[in-house]
Parts: sequence; structure tokens; C-alpha cells
Amino acid sequence: MPVDRDNAIRPAMLTDDIAFVGDRSVSVHAILSNEGIVLLDTGFPGMLEGIGESLKALGLSLADVTAVIHTHGHIDHFGNTAAIVRLTGARTCIGREDADIVTGERDLSWAKELGLPPAETFTPAAVFSDGDVLTFGDRRIRVVHAPGHTEGTYAFFIETKVGGIPATAAMHGGVGLNSMTRAFLCSRGLPLSLRDDFRRGLRKLAPEKVDVVLGNHPQQNDTEGKLSRMGNGGNPFVDPTEWKRFLRACEEGLDRMLAEEEKSE
Ligand SMILES: [Zn+2]
Repeated sequence: MPVDRDNAIRPAMLTDDIAFVGDRSVSVHAILSNEGIVLLDTGFPGMLEGIGESLKALGLSLADVTAVIHTHGHIDHFGNTAAIVRLTGARTCIGREDADIVTGERDLSWAKELGLPPAETFTPAAVFSDGDVLTFGDRRIRVVHAPGHTEGTYAFFIETKVGGIPATAAMHGGVGLNSMTRAFLCSRGLPLSLRDDFRRGLRKLAPEKVDVVLGNHPQQNDTEGKLSRMGNGGNPFVDPTEWKRFLRACEEGLDRMLAEEEKSE
């Protein structure tokens, strides 16, 4: 599939060792380690060529991807994982609770809702659980269970550097409310309590000290706006106040959705 140029975002290093290589539809991040590249999500099916070009523009290579970690089991986050494993033999992992979605055992990848054919499935080499610290060479990534968007959505805390100064980058791995509406949850036999889990997760994550917020989709942290201000002195991705603001906005969105549902009863 050709690269969708209209959807393209200029790839860039957001910190000394974390690159954005996704597009407007969904984020893909490359985390550099001394044992190769760790990809955080792999985008929609069809994005592989674009991801490869983005890595190349940064002097990196898809062939050097040694691990793929997933924020949750939706098609826009694991759409190219099987292909990357074939290309590079990368080790794959995902949160324990979503593992049976990416293997195809449970039909919750959201492909149907988006009118897409199912994504190619894969069997994760490993699954992670709340509080695990994933090790990739010299890199440590701490994962925190933050369910709601799916049962196996996780947040990621990555020790990084900005201009040589240690910093913490973090991503909430799924905040979209589309998979938390009463209509969706009831239609798929999922518990309404996932909304309470989502709120609990937001509150659990809020006290974390985060210097750089990564977006699960680029709109969540204004990736493009910040990239356009890159190089004007300072790094616009560094904002120690953004994490708490972002999580609060997510909770306000949840409140609005629940109030709307109540009204329409
Ligand atoms: Zn999703």
C-alpha cells in the first residue's frame, strides 16, 4: 500500500532517544536502545512503508527493530506487527488482558467498527502486567495497567534524556471514549464498570512526575503543533504541567459522556 502523504507528519526525535514515526491517524514511536529499536505500537495496516521511510529519514532502519510493545489491542496499534516480526524477528509484547485480541481469539480489535478487514494476528512473545518493568538492553520501560479503553490498556513510563538531561516521558495507552459508551460495551458483553476502571486509572497516574507527554494519537499531545515550534529554543515537548492537565481533561470527557447518557435515558 502506498504511503498516505496527506496524512504524513514529519518524523522527528522528540527527546534524545524517542522518535515520532507515526502519522496523523495514529502515533508510532521508536525508542532507541543499545540492542536495537523498540517500537511502541505499529499503526494501521498499510502504514508500514511510511514507518520505514520515517525511520530512514532519521538515519534509522526498520531492519533494526528488535522489539514491539503495544499500548492496547486495537487494529490501529498492532496493524503492522505481524509484518514487522516477519521482517526482523522482533520480540512482541502486550498487556496480558488484550493478548487474546491480537491472536484473534477475541474479536475486539475494532476493525469491524472501522469498516476494515481484520488485521493480521500475531502471538505475543510475552505479556506484561501492572507494575512490570520491561528491559530492552539499556532501556527500562515501566508499565501501569490503565484499563477502560480496552481491558488491557496500559500506560508507559520511559526514562529518557532531553539535551543530555534525564527526563521521564509517559504515554497513557488509550483514552478514546468510543469503546466506553454504554451502547458499545453492552453490545459486546463488556462490563460497564470499565468506565470506573478508566477513572481510577487516570487518578492513579496523575501523581506521576512526567516531563514529556507522548500521545497515543498525535492530537492528544499536539504533536504537530509542538513539532512546528521545535528548534525555536527549548524543546516544546518538555512541559512538566501537561500530564496532569491531560489526565484531568480525559476525566472531564468521561463525565460529559456519562451525563449525556443519563440525559438520553
Ligand atoms: Zn484503541
